[in-house]
Amino acid sequence: MNPVGKPGKTGSLMPVETALARLLEMADATSIPERERLPLAQVQGRVLADDLLSTLDLPPWPNSAMDGYALRMADWTGEPLVVSQKIFAGQAPAPLLPGTCARIFTGAPVPAGADCVEMQENAQVQADERVAFTEAMTLGQNIRPQGQETTVGELILPAGTRLGPIEQGLAASLGCAELDVVRKIRVAVLSTGDELIEPGQALGPGQIYNSNRVLLCSWLQRLGCEVIDAGILPDDLVTTRARLGELKNVDLILSTGGVSVGEADFLGIALREEGELSLWKLAIKPGKPLTFGHFRGVPVIGLPGNPASTLVTFALLARPYLLRRLGVKDVEPLKVQVQAGFDWPIAGSRREYLRGRLESGRAIIYKNQSSGVLRSAAWADGLVEVMEGRTLVAGDSVSFIPLSEVLV
Ligand code: AMP
Ligand code: MG
Repeated sequence: MNPVGKPGKTGSLMPVETALARLLEMADATSIPERERLPLAQVQGRVLADDLLSTLDLPPWPNSAMDGYALRMADWTGEPLVVSQKIFAGQAPAPLLPGTCARIFTGAPVPAGADCVEMQENAQVQADERVAFTEAMTLGQNIRPQGQETTVGELILPAGTRLGPIEQGLAASLGCAELDVVRKIRVAVLSTGDELIEPGQALGPGQIYNSNRVLLCSWLQRLGCEVIDAGILPDDLVTTRARLGELKNVDLILSTGGVSVGEADFLGIALREEGELSLWKLAIKPGKPLTFGHFRGVPVIGLPGNPASTLVTFALLARPYLLRRLGVKDVEPLKVQVQAGFDWPIAGSRREYLRGRLESGRAIIYKNQSSGVLRSAAWADGLVEVMEGRTLVAGDSVSFIPLSEVLV
């Protein structure tokens, strides 16, 4: 019934790009949340709902790029010119009197009739206050023409753009006080496992602190999501069923853990009962098991529970899915090519995302790449991508995904 859930061959691992393509396909098939209008100062991290077209020419009038003198080239015979007006930024100048120049400052409108600005360093004020220009000048020099940045009607930012400081600044330069953005997607975060307790409580035998919960909640907030912290699910079917049923008004359920083995996979059982579930075995390390399904019509993504696996699968799969649900087109992180600063003698059957950092342009990797070791990622500033079946010697070219790319 769910065509997206079938792996290619029985027992074969699904390539990362296949999983991503399927997730994005499903995101595209889900309608983008409704829009809301927000003051410009509050749109940081949100997604633009409509194309932003320019309603202005920018700059609206030619202005001076320098402190200096505006003149008409044809008036310059080599003789000093009388200064007929002084123009500061924010003023509306009179047309330039023929045969004169105007003192002008950076950002001030160039008076009608002037066709070049000479910088003050190249001008000599004479005893009689006339100004001599001795350097060669060119038509239009030091004038920022009207509309050099944009003209009325031009597409400035397409719908689906993620908004940050630069986009906010650009919208402000066009006079926008408010923008229509996509409503935040509501994501319920569930941690699963009897062994989990929250920080602040005393650790009992066999227990560990829940690290995925805060990691994902905080990350989702950065991505412009509204987080519903749904707490910890015990490894118990009745409770799992009941707790899932309590989730109301959410756009996505994001869980970690409990997806690897059937026996303790209560989330999986609950999804199969009241929705659908595909279990994917991915050619990714750390990672591998990932579930996608629906519970009563709400999409569910189940990430593996080991913290480094959670991090990598969220960064490479869940994050692009979420952004696409918001209408963002370009959802894949930038990869840069760097030299490996390490040897990788044994080829793996899964694509590895090693937690690494750049030192003198070479990627080095954390000493312990276990999927349970989150410290590797705190040490790292990126993921080194080693393709399946590949070996490396130091100096080989590898892809590096900066963590700063995926954490926002
Ligand atoms: P599971 O997929 O439930 O078998 O979990 C795989 C590993 O990740 C186990 O060692 C779990 O204890 C650990 N784990 C699962 N969820 C969390 C979590 N929220 N925080 C920290 N570790 C977790
Ligand atoms: Mg578990």
